[in-house]
Amino acid sequence: MTILDKIAENALKHPERMVYYRENTENFQSGGVKGGSLSWGELEEYSNRLAAYLDRGLTAKTPVVVYGHKNPYMIVCFLACVKSGRAYCPVDISVPSNRAELIFKEVNPEVILATEELPVQAEKVLSLSSILSIIENEKKIISRAKYVSGEEIFYIIFTSGSTGIPKGVQITGNCLDRFVEWAVSVGSGFETGREGGYTFINQAPFSFDLSVMDLFLALYTGGTLWALDKKIQSDMKLLLESLKRSSAHVWVSTPSFADVCLSDRQFSGELMPGLERFLFCGETLTNQTVRRLREAFPKAEIVNTYGPTESTVAVTEVVVTPGINETYNPLPVGKEKKGTRILIMDQEGRILPEGQKGEIIIAGDTVSAGYWNNRKLTKEKFGTMEIDETVCRFYRTGDRGYKQDGFTFYCGRIDLQVKLHGYRIEIEDIESNLMKLPCVRQAAVVPVFKDGKARSLTAYLSVKGDIENSFEKAQELRSRLKAYLPEYMIPKKFVFLDSLPMTANGKADRKALGGLRS
Ligand code: AMP
Repeated sequence: MTILDKIAENALKHPERMVYYRENTENFQSGGVKGGSLSWGELEEYSNRLAAYLDRGLTAKTPVVVYGHKNPYMIVCFLACVKSGRAYCPVDISVPSNRAELIFKEVNPEVILATEELPVQAEKVLSLSSILSIIENEKKIISRAKYVSGEEIFYIIFTSGSTGIPKGVQITGNCLDRFVEWAVSVGSGFETGREGGYTFINQAPFSFDLSVMDLFLALYTGGTLWALDKKIQSDMKLLLESLKRSSAHVWVSTPSFADVCLSDRQFSGELMPGLERFLFCGETLTNQTVRRLREAFPKAEIVNTYGPTESTVAVTEVVVTPGINETYNPLPVGKEKKGTRILIMDQEGRILPEGQKGEIIIAGDTVSAGYWNNRKLTKEKFGTMEIDETVCRFYRTGDRGYKQDGFTFYCGRIDLQVKLHGYRIEIEDIESNLMKLPCVRQAAVVPVFKDGKARSLTAYLSVKGDIENSFEKAQELRSRLKAYLPEYMIPKKFVFLDSLPMTANGKADRKALGGLRS
């Protein structure tokens, strides 16, 4: 059964049950419709009507951008797009105007569904009030024959790109269906028809693929998504209160977010007595985080999963039992799901035996159809191979890893990508945006690591003219850079040098820079 069929089935079973809660409604232009929540019945009906409108009003089957921040109508829009046969491309408000403009230009959508005010002028935009009035007035509903299916693109998520232009990862209907079918079995599994359903914590904005894990698990299992918006996440008191009220059963986040919560002792099984499981993905889960979580939530299961956006959220899993936490450091990222094979390859493309480190290659039924509008990069990173007599796509992750005891282990990157507080960042993306600032002559960004995890970024710069006050200069550059990059990509430290040290082949010598005292 496809995810869209499953959603229709769930909506029919319990139309009154809440499918989505967002507590902070301060910025939510509700237009007279109920605050930040949505029932299953509303989700199904509204998305059917909006899909019928899109089907009638749009000519091409090109992707539609959905803009906003955890607004309940974002999920109405997502489903409306795919029900009308179009992929959706979520863009969060954390994306600054220049970058949003780049994404809009890349996607070139026939329409943008904007649940918040757009940061830039765009031609065809449906604001939230227009979306609400369409939902109210549309008489038709969409035919199932129009739904995105099989190898058609279901969503496109943009991630940091090394050229300074984000790249759009295309995920097909098949990829999402195979992912969700596996995700319901992760850890001790989910009962799809459980009485009352599961409530899932949603931390990641919808423009990050980690959110696909909680959103589509909630939709597939007939549950509820409890969204923590930006404001709640930035205020510990609000956050803990919201977590308490959520009565959540399942936690989905990056380990970094759990670390933030663990800094307050109230974050425990007493605050969230119904919490059964932590699902982690997106960055290294450390032994220490597991130890602290186990102390705070002795009854909850802790699951580590691994995968890039290019292979639909995650392709491996391991339940981190106390035994596993004591035996392995680093922790394994797990065993691959059915339909996926992880291979460790050397630079010549030879498959390496257990224990040897190389690049992690993911092959299988959830590997992306490639990057939107970028054949060159798609050819570089993706290919096809035969596994168990089936031809499937593979993706070169750029992650370094090895296999041991049937598990895959992750041990860093072979390129200049980093994960910082759970966010995926191409270092060259920051550098090429720094070079857009007129006074910058040379720029190199170096991550600062502690206990095997990137903790912050330092930018080394040589600039035109004299610097009277380096603190003020750094502040100036930081605020200018914010026009191009989201907050999480802005380096914490700026170090000004007359010129940057160079390697023999004329590139900034990052090793030498990393060794400099900043
Ligand atoms: P994203 O596309 O944002 O999900 O980022 C994917 C990258 O995050 C992977 O290629 C890895 O470098 C990293 N990553 C994902 N899951 C894990 C994990 N469980 N442990 C360590 N790194 C991870």
